[in-house]
Amino acid sequence: MFFIFGWGHRNIKNFGSTLVQKCPICSHTSHYSLVRTRDWATLFFIPIFPYETKYYLECPVCKNAFELENENNIEKLKEIAELIEKFDNKEVTKKDLNKQYKVLVNGLKKEEKGEDKSDD
Ligand SMILES: [Zn+2]
Repeated sequence: MFFIFGWGHRNIKNFGSTLVQKCPICSHTSHYSLVRTRDWATLFFIPIFPYETKYYLECPVCKNAFELENENNIEKLKEIAELIEKFDNKEVTKKDLNKQYKVLVNGLKKEEKGEDKSDD
């Protein structure tokens, strides 16, 4: 009896549209998508448990992605994606969308950019 164990089975989940931003790569201004990648360990090619999860904001035009590290922001961006989806489904009015969007965007913290000094 032997086991086939593997790493790196990846699945990708797109939470939908979030912030409107201008892409520094392709210069298009559009709703960035919140994307999650999850890498799984596999046994006989069946995913058993995830060992790495990352979140990105992805430009819908050129697919360039920026990794998110602040958990607060990830939660807020999920709420923004839900809100925009509700608006697309006509479950909230444009007025409510604008109001709630503003509150959520104001709750975002600045992502640490540049060199990462805290390596713990
Ligand atoms: Zn782009």
